[in-house]
Amino acid sequence: MSSNGKIRRDVCIENVEVTHTSGTLTTDLARIVPEIDTYARPAVRLHPRPGRPAVSESHIGGPILWPDTQPWPRCGAIHCAHNLARSTARGVVLPVPSGQLTARERAARLSWKAASRRRADRASVAERTALLREPCATPLIPLAQLFAADFPEITFPAGKDIAQVMWRGLFDHDSIEVFWQDSADIIGIQQPPAAELAEEFGDTITMSACILDPERISDLPWYEELPPNVREQLVQCRPEPADTDDLAHNGARQYPPSLYYRLSAAPGFKIGGSMNWSTNDVPDLICPDCKASTALLLQLDTYEWPPGQPDSHWRPREDSQLVPGTPHYNLACEPTGLTIGRASHGGVFACSMNPEHSPQFICP
Ligand SMILES: [Zn+2]
Ligand SMILES: [Zn+2]
Repeated sequence: MSSNGKIRRDVCIENVEVTHTSGTLTTDLARIVPEIDTYARPAVRLHPRPGRPAVSESHIGGPILWPDTQPWPRCGAIHCAHNLARSTARGVVLPVPSGQLTARERAARLSWKAASRRRADRASVAERTALLREPCATPLIPLAQLFAADFPEITFPAGKDIAQVMWRGLFDHDSIEVFWQDSADIIGIQQPPAAELAEEFGDTITMSACILDPERISDLPWYEELPPNVREQLVQCRPEPADTDDLAHNGARQYPPSLYYRLSAAPGFKIGGSMNWSTNDVPDLICPDCKASTALLLQLDTYEWPPGQPDSHWRPREDSQLVPGTPHYNLACEPTGLTIGRASHGGVFACSMNPEHSPQFICP
């Protein structure tokens, strides 16, 4: 079920317009906590599915409207020894994008890079230490492109109407960058440095380009984010008999928070809403630039619904005919091919005061 080649990615039915609708649970939380709706957070499930998105569309993976007047974005981070060879690729960043090189120049560049790696193998400790202080020059990978016209829920900087989420190829705290563009400024489009990305990442990145089918839903805050008095109401409450089917998953009366957990934060790729923090405490969600609060801009998820729960209400009704374990089921459940953390999820958090402040990527 993981993305490491076990899912056949040739079984998709490309760009078929299908609506995806989350199921519902019978439990009415408002009956338990009457004011619970006041805590609701709007969210948009993206329901990515492999396809051929156009460069001018909102999508996950695939081509983006990167202007040919800007250099392709590069990592720039000082990595700890994640990849010594990567850090030693000194000098490979030529002042022209890879796509504009001739075949001969590209070959020379790649052979230089291989030589650089051999040099790294022979480097002394002092040389390696110095090399590791060099900014990483790896090209960033397009992860998502989101248009304001499709997602008015996103707070865009003034004069910008495209959010482009780019990725360093690793999932750690600073692995994501968000670029804001004005589509009116983009005259010529630059292609991603495909050869360089392939040389850098090979087949370790198995992300599929995906079309989107946005579904507007309401999330609730994660349990720990609720005020103490609301948490107390949830803990005191016991479900009525009609709700007991919802408890079957846990096999016992663990209500709440277990049921609340299942209801509150949608899994899968989504914009806004809440994150599931079941594996660690909710961290301080604070902008590193101005200390204002941050909010979930984009959730990335390995799975669109819990893979071991084919009856989950998060599995879209339109996918209900898919047979668990089949390639089409797996492809709907893991459409992007990305494995986030340990087959988990993560969130890109943006400053609530200024979306252009440094985004944070948090992977519970
Ligand atoms: Zn890097
Ligand atoms: Zn800020």
